[in-house]
Amino acid sequence: MAKTTEGKRLREIEAYFQKYPNVPREIIVKADLLNLGHSFSDAALEAASGALVKSYRLFSYDLMTMAQMERREFAKVPEWFTIFQGDYGLRPVTVQTTLATDSPYLVDVIDGRLGLRLDGHSIASVSYPRPFAYYARSFPDGTAYRDVIAFGAFVTIFRACQYWGVKEECKFCDINENARQMKETQSYTLSAPVKTVEQIAEVAREIGREAASAGYPTPVRFILTGGTITTQLHGKAEDDFYLEYAQAVKGSGHRLHVTLQTNAKDLATLKRYRSGGVDSHHANMEVWDERLFPWVCPGKARRVGRDAWIRSMLDSVDVFGEGVVRPNFVCGVEMARPNGFATVEEAVRSTTEGIEFLMSHGVVPRFNHWRREPRAYLAREHVQPPPPLDFYIQLMRNRYEVWKKHALPLPYSYGPHPEVRYMGAAHGTYDDYVLLTEKKDYAQQAMAALQDEKAIIGLGLTFG
Ligand code: SF4
Repeated sequence: MAKTTEGKRLREIEAYFQKYPNVPREIIVKADLLNLGHSFSDAALEAASGALVKSYRLFSYDLMTMAQMERREFAKVPEWFTIFQGDYGLRPVTVQTTLATDSPYLVDVIDGRLGLRLDGHSIASVSYPRPFAYYARSFPDGTAYRDVIAFGAFVTIFRACQYWGVKEECKFCDINENARQMKETQSYTLSAPVKTVEQIAEVAREIGREAASAGYPTPVRFILTGGTITTQLHGKAEDDFYLEYAQAVKGSGHRLHVTLQTNAKDLATLKRYRSGGVDSHHANMEVWDERLFPWVCPGKARRVGRDAWIRSMLDSVDVFGEGVVRPNFVCGVEMARPNGFATVEEAVRSTTEGIEFLMSHGVVPRFNHWRREPRAYLAREHVQPPPPLDFYIQLMRNRYEVWKKHALPLPYSYGPHPEVRYMGAAHGTYDDYVLLTEKKDYAQQAMAALQDEKAIIGLGLTFG
């Protein structure tokens, strides 16, 4: 259970509302939920039976290990939840589930409804997503469809990374450790780290069929990702390996949008991807700062290099177009100990420079909130307190202003589930800021999505 701290964090959050009156309150609350994590009461876990369960598709995105979860929460909690209304009149935003039992935030059942407590006080309503029907299906070999493509969109082709050890692995990343802990729980059908082309194509086809029958507006979007292949995997080099999957997904239906995430590539390879059916390419740089990039991403720095990485992101815009080149940055890792920036001002200034440079070239960086996963190198080797909330608020405000200045397109949806068609990515606040500020019908559309009882669990919800 979350500790009641006599309203300390509640008072601090309300002070942030006063300090940043022009920042949407949803951004402040959601950033804090991702920064400090949250826990679920027994009643809230029970209410999650029948929900879209967290997939642990790539990283754990938890502030605690599975072994520390005494109620096996990892097998029960939803992939994300939506917060809305309450005392602050929040418009709906989705929050990626980030477990931490020492957080002041608690998802609970309050007077028969799902709700969010901060320091014991009810501050917002909550809903959970239900899974698509394909989540109940399995292949004859026992592989669950849900382990092949998560929440109708996310395909982890290779659930490991060949950047091994401290000299290569990105320091925030727990992909290899996460796969290990999943195996230890014996709750997942993950005996092979590599998925077959046939199984991925079949699940993609099934999702396309389901999305069409649910009235999802095409194109259906898939994001294909996996660890780096430094040598060969199944007899193939990285480009050949991933391209085969991209082609199979692209060919599994009509009007499908395929995003591929890999290391940065040269122009010729990007063109090869494009002609092979890839609609969008993300080379996730993770951290902008020149001094921090080789520390945080030693494998990427050594094998590709920062200049080549930046060149590739710009080339991607020429090949794929504006608005679809959305490389990820791990938001907050620039303040990691011991080498990160010591002050919010320096950290915000450095990353804002990167945002300005990239957006001026049509690249639209994403900012996945750093979760300080305990089995990743950074948290294993150093105590990592949460970066100050000021950092997240100021950086996301700057990102929005730079996005506006360069007249870049509105973000597109992240998958076929009703609420994520209208709301920003659950793992950060970067798209929420744009959508909450720019989409005039945002609250109306998002609330309408939450009324779909076939897709949403929200105990005793009333809408007015
Ligand atoms: S490239 Fe870096 S972030 Fe990606 S899986 Fe490998 S170690 Fe993790």
